[in-house]
Amino acid sequence: MKTKLVIGNWKMNLDFGAAEDLATSIQEAIENFNLKTEVAICPPFPFLELVTDLADESNFYAGAQNCSQYDNGAYTGEVSAAMLASLGVNFCIVGHSERRKLFNESNEVVARKVDKLIAEDLIPVVCCGEQLEDRKAGRHFEVVEKQVKESLFHLAKNDFEHVVIAYEPVWAIGTGETATPAQASEMHAFIRGLVEKKYGSEMAYNTYILYGGSCNAKNALELFSSPDVDGGLIGGASLKSADFVEIIEAAETSVSEN
Ligand code: PEP
Repeated sequence: MKTKLVIGNWKMNLDFGAAEDLATSIQEAIENFNLKTEVAICPPFPFLELVTDLADESNFYAGAQNCSQYDNGAYTGEVSAAMLASLGVNFCIVGHSERRKLFNESNEVVARKVDKLIAEDLIPVVCCGEQLEDRKAGRHFEVVEKQVKESLFHLAKNDFEHVVIAYEPVWAIGTGETATPAQASEMHAFIRGLVEKKYGSEMAYNTYILYGGSCNAKNALELFSSPDVDGGLIGGASLKSADFVEIIEAAETSVSEN
């Protein structure tokens, strides 16, 4: 089984002091682990340098939660992929359902952000996932297929290999309701099948497909035990060092158990 990837998405939480405490506490907790799991922390923009500085001397990476689809210029309030790269950021979440819903981020915009990140050698973590009504109506595969194809399948093979996909059913994000391991596995296998059809079986195996949506210290091991679930994108539970570290431990255990 391949090693897992666990990414913490702090969203718009914490202040500088609390961010420093949390990042330092995670660093201290995992610094002596001989980690096989890859770990990344995605703080709000103002705290990124704090995390990139710590990441430099630690066994985790820094990630951003968003970037602009533009290169530079008169885009007040935006942050470019090049700026993130110049800070030493390695990952960037794009197409999170909160951005799709609250900031009208379309698949087309996500695709442009992905291009900017790849051009700067950053790893895009591209989110997809259906709404509750889509699942109830049995449209969940169709919805996710459209998101994945329109956000990613314009990429050439040598660019696609740098992409991480996060399946995050919208009804599970921040709600305390998690997809069952069977639901997560089924959708991950479906997404992997799409990647296989487009880019071949080696790429399908190598592509990291993370689960996100109320993943926590209690349910992480069961979710990560599916061979199609390559780790997690963690929101709420990444704001507590002890919980986040337990999730990282679950990722380690899920690999060693298989
Ligand atoms: C997320 O925002 O990406 C997420 C998965 O949130 P939560 O873990 O809080 O559901």
